[in-house]
Amino acid sequence: MKDLEKSVKKFLKARRWDTLRPSDLAKSIMIEGAELLELFQWENLPLEEVKGDKEKLEAIKKELADVLIYCLEMAVLLGLDSEKIIRAKLAHSNKKYPAKLLRANAQKGSGSGADTAYWKIKKAYRRKGK
Ligand SMILES: [Mg+2]
Repeated sequence: MKDLEKSVKKFLKARRWDTLRPSDLAKSIMIEGAELLELFQWENLPLEEVKGDKEKLEAIKKELADVLIYCLEMAVLLGLDSEKIIRAKLAHSNKKYPAKLLRANAQKGSGSGADTAYWKIKKAYRRKGK
C-alpha cells in the first residue's frame, strides 16, 4: 500500500494536483462510482456471469481503478494511512457483522446481500447513530 501511496503522491505532485480540495475528490469518487454502476444498468447478472464476460470485466477494471485511485488520492492528501484505515474498518465490520450469524443467514436466504440479519444489524447501528 505504501508503494501505491507513493506513486499516487508522485502523480499528483507532478501535475500540481497536490492541493486538490477533499470535496472535489469526494465528488470524483462518486462520479467514477456512477460510471462503474452504469456498467450494470438494466441488468442483474450473477457473479460468475460477470466474471465470464471479458469485455465487461475490462470496463469494470478501468472504472474500479478510477474509484480506487481517487480514494487513494484523498487518503494521501489528507495524510491518512490507507492500509491502517482499511484494517480498522475491517475490524469494526468483523465485530458488527458476525461471520457465523451472517453465514448461517446466507445459507437460508437469497444470497443477494439483502438478507434479514444484515439489515437488522444495520438498522440497529443506525438507531444508535454509529
Ligand atoms: Mg471513469
